[in-house]
Amino acid sequence: MALNIVLIGPPGAGKGTQAERLAARLRVPRISTGDVLREAVALGTPLGGLVRAVMARGELVSDDLMIEVVRERLERPDAAAGFVLDGFPRTVRQAEALDGMVAGRGPLTVVEIAVPEPELLRRLGARQVCRACGANAAPEAAAAGRCGRCDGELVQRADDDAGVVRERLQVYARDTRPLVQHYRGRSLLREVDGNAAPDDVFAGLVRAVTEAGR
Ligand SMILES: [Zn+2]
Repeated sequence: MALNIVLIGPPGAGKGTQAERLAARLRVPRISTGDVLREAVALGTPLGGLVRAVMARGELVSDDLMIEVVRERLERPDAAAGFVLDGFPRTVRQAEALDGMVAGRGPLTVVEIAVPEPELLRRLGARQVCRACGANAAPEAAAAGRCGRCDGELVQRADDDAGVVRERLQVYARDTRPLVQHYRGRSLLREVDGNAAPDDVFAGLVRAVTEAGR
């Protein structure tokens, strides 16, 4: 029984951390698009060469190239028993390609970490970093206004200004809606309440993928 999992979630949902934990629990690799692109470049595969050229020109990696890089990654032996995909698919075209890649490898389970927008705005808007050492501020430190590690001054993260945050959430909603439709039509989609403490969100994720596997 393969555990082929796709994790979807808005900025601020903690998706990366949850993907890492879930993959460790299930003993399958976490496959994030950022890592996969970096690996392809580092390994110097023919595809990696294409990725490197695109990045050197400062362009975005196309749908087709991203699909091929992920396909190559999923063919590696460590992904045979399953995977937790993070950041792919991002478009319906990528989702259709993924359907083809997992054909014959067991079902795909797509889990969306759902967090209400006001909560996301609060989380992203509240995110502060230390001006001196760059550490993310824990809530207690943020309340005190000083870095818990070095006592440096805390400042708002540059990309977390309210307008930028709203735009990131809009882009997410616009890109994700068609994906959700793609999967909902075939009952592959589970939703986990992300408006909770990280440990509770993780427990919800584990439940969702375990139930899907029955
Ligand atoms: Zn600091």
